[in-house]
Amino acid sequence: MQKMKVATIYSPYDVRIEEVEKPEVGPRDFLVKLRSVALCGSDLPYYKGTLLGITYPLPPGEPGHECAGEVVKVAEDLPDELLQIVEQCSGVPVHKIKEIMEGDRVYVEVHNAYAEYAKVPVIGETRHGFAPRIFELPESISFDEGTFLGLLASTIHCIKLAEIKLGDDVAIFGLGPTGLLMTQLARIQGADNIIGVDLMKERLKLGEELGASEVVNASDEDPFEKVRELTHGKGVDVAIEAVGQVSETINQAIKSTKKGGNVVSFGVYSKPIDNFDIHEYYSRQLTLKASLGNTPHELILAEELLISGRVKLKPLITHRLPFHKIGKGLEIFDKKLEGAVKVIIQC
Ligand SMILES: [Zn+2]
Repeated sequence: MQKMKVATIYSPYDVRIEEVEKPEVGPRDFLVKLRSVALCGSDLPYYKGTLLGITYPLPPGEPGHECAGEVVKVAEDLPDELLQIVEQCSGVPVHKIKEIMEGDRVYVEVHNAYAEYAKVPVIGETRHGFAPRIFELPESISFDEGTFLGLLASTIHCIKLAEIKLGDDVAIFGLGPTGLLMTQLARIQGADNIIGVDLMKERLKLGEELGASEVVNASDEDPFEKVRELTHGKGVDVAIEAVGQVSETINQAIKSTKKGGNVVSFGVYSKPIDNFDIHEYYSRQLTLKASLGNTPHELILAEELLISGRVKLKPLITHRLPFHKIGKGLEIFDKKLEGAVKVIIQC
């Protein structure tokens, strides 16, 4: 039996590289040699043990899910009727799956991608309840950039929910990878003032470079006061929370939004939080929406934005580490060391 390397999270903060059997694939599975795996904010609760109801060790390779690689084996039994179902579940159009050939470069969504190889069943469910996805990458996009396809689609989903109109003022709380993508998308959408809020000066600088009109360092200034000043006392039309887990940022987003405005919660909340400011939300008749995942159309839109170069990804990739240093990568990403924004593991 051929072996491959995987990373297994044995207990919180304990990541080990080990060898397991290379996945066996059936006639309805693709096998992909992974080349780049991006660490995602939603991986961190698994790494840190803050998610309710999970047991350790995690299954090998979990929870890696943002990845890109080369197809080494194509699923051969793909009748049209099956592909219609696949399109409905995963959102990848039938022709896109049929076109995939051995050697093609693909974006892949699975749930165990801290590994050298990933089996991608065309029908199934990932740990997060989504269908697995395989999607050919445009020629001009590197494996590292290709790992962003699903994330970009998810931020497009959030921006759509935000209903930003031409000339709107927008505040984005959290300039991590998703906040920086949404800064660019809000600009494309025609926002006027885009106010980026973060605690890290490296991220604030990136925010300015990628389209924010103003940035607020929340460790020096009260974001709410600053947003009020920048919007002549009115507050923003739309606020996006892209931090998650804590009450401060969602409360600041709510407080900074003008009466009747939209607040979209994008950051991950894996358990209930205390001190949610329902009074501010209620009294100013805000609309609060949660954004999770993306739709088929948004995946295609993400591909188009990557091809056109209108959304910039390269500045977001601050760290690239070899596979055996994935534990170090998770530490850098978790503690935001060395100005980390997006950390890519190269297999
Ligand atoms: Zn993710």
